[in-house]
Amino acid sequence: MIRLIDLDSIKKNPNAGRSSHILAGQVTTKDWWDCGDKIVEKVRFGEEPGPDDIAISEESTGRPAKDPKIIKTEQKRDVQTVRTMEPEPEFLYKYTSLTVTCKSCKASFDFSKLESDSGCGPEDDWQSDTICPECHDMQCLEDDVVEETIDEALHRLSRIDPIRFKKLRQRAA
Ligand SMILES: [Zn+2]
Repeated sequence: MIRLIDLDSIKKNPNAGRSSHILAGQVTTKDWWDCGDKIVEKVRFGEEPGPDDIAISEESTGRPAKDPKIIKTEQKRDVQTVRTMEPEPEFLYKYTSLTVTCKSCKASFDFSKLESDSGCGPEDDWQSDTICPECHDMQCLEDDVVEETIDEALHRLSRIDPIRFKKLRQRAA
């Protein structure tokens, strides 16, 4: 059995070729506490200063401070660059639905519902991508399913709809 790519779903990936993403990181806040006769610097993560921050400010002065107040605040947001293992693919696409039947419990479901698992065995490590979602048979398919690759799908598209194929192949302006 072959699981085909839905030709209508193929589109250019706007992030094609990129291998990193910028994520907003944690906010770090530095407060300056006026503890009466001493200014105490205290770094906190998160939104509002809590009772713990006030208590630590007091500890730093060596005695309970009279009504410690924040007199200055500085906030900084970290930026994190996350590198992905491989550059983003050129195309995004979905597979068409393909109903398969479990050879053990005879339940029918879409191929995408199959579950995956892996682990270490006494002899060998194992990996299965064809686990029945109903009865959890580890190899629940009678026949192998081959998934069409994007290159094969594009080749198919070039024969069915050459104009759309050409458009997809053009570089983004
Ligand atoms: Zn089953």
